Amino acid sequence: MRVVGASATHVGQVREANQDRALVSGSLGAVADGMGGHLGGEHAAALAIAELSGVRGYIDEHRLIEVVEAANLRIHEGSVEPQYRGMGTTVVAATFDASRNVITIVNVGDSRGYLFRQQQLSQITVDHSLVEDLLRQGRLTEEEARVHPQRNIVTRALGIGPEVEVDAFAVEVAPGDRIVLASDGLFNEVEDDGIAAILARLAEPTEAVDELVRVAVERGGRDNVTVVILDLVEGDDPAAAQDAADDAAPVGRPIANDKFASDNGGPSGGTLGPDPAVADPDKSSFWRRFRPRSMLLTLGVLSVVVLGFGGTAVYARSGYFADERDGDVVILRGRPSGMLWFKPSIESETSLTVDELDGASRERLAQRPVWPTLEDAMDFVDNLETPAEPDTPEPSD
Ligand code: MN
Repeated sequence: MRVVGASATHVGQVREANQDRALVSGSLGAVADGMGGHLGGEHAAALAIAELSGVRGYIDEHRLIEVVEAANLRIHEGSVEPQYRGMGTTVVAATFDASRNVITIVNVGDSRGYLFRQQQLSQITVDHSLVEDLLRQGRLTEEEARVHPQRNIVTRALGIGPEVEVDAFAVEVAPGDRIVLASDGLFNEVEDDGIAAILARLAEPTEAVDELVRVAVERGGRDNVTVVILDLVEGDDPAAAQDAADDAAPVGRPIANDKFASDNGGPSGGTLGPDPAVADPDKSSFWRRFRPRSMLLTLGVLSVVVLGFGGTAVYARSGYFADERDGDVVILRGRPSGMLWFKPSIESETSLTVDELDGASRERLAQRPVWPTLEDAMDFVDNLETPAEPDTPEPSD
């Protein structure tokens, strides 16, 4: 089995610049949707794609996450330039491993990865966005989410901080499967049924991406639109032999780093060279941190392997945030939009109910900012406005 890929992008009908970027290179595809000023958004998306374009052959999920983390750091460091201040970008990337027949998809932000199989479109990634959080809380319907005025707000993006949490999904694939990567300019204009109909009608990936983009622009094109398709087809993958050789190497040896060392010498020098954490002889902690723990979810005919990492478990458990449980405001330990199976635990109950909060406070609560300590989270709850009984001790003006 091998991958045949295609991409298309359009500025849309409203925006002046196209801050989306796409990549199809060998068996790797990616979409980045930049944000933060005219120059910054384009620059951030281009940096993310440049980092991914250095990938040669198949890399496993750990290495793909590392590439995204390297892109994050590069964008974050670049944002000290005045013209790039505050720049960030989403990213969704997919890579095919012919030796295991697995597509690994990673994402940060609200650009999506879908699987189209047997005429069914399934979203694989989980959006890191405000409306996704509200959807999961049952506060919005799918239809409301599609037109929500804050649907562009993402809760994670590359470039915002020196570190970023990257989600990874591994999908077992078969010939005929299509992986679709898209910026929100597609799915905010074209509903899933419309996307699926085009994918079913146009087997040629170049025709399908062109048509998806054309329809999204025709329906309004309120944002930049970008689509990548990776089609799984019968036949040999020229990179498969190399992939098999890589897989035969013992786990724990940083093999992936070898092929990166030559590609990563970017203009900003040190940060993009061989990762010092990997070059360090005491790297066993690195591998312990990222040892995969697999977990199988069966969704009808679709079986999706979701990969968890020890390091993410620790990260997912750190921090405190306030949220609603059965109408009460409670403080939880963990991360609100962390990995799917790390359920935050209730750390403290409060005397507040959501009904007591005014609209602005409910919105602040819905954004679920994460605090480093329980005390910080309790202060946050104390400062939520309750018009019925204003009990904030200090004047906030
Ligand atoms: Mn967008």
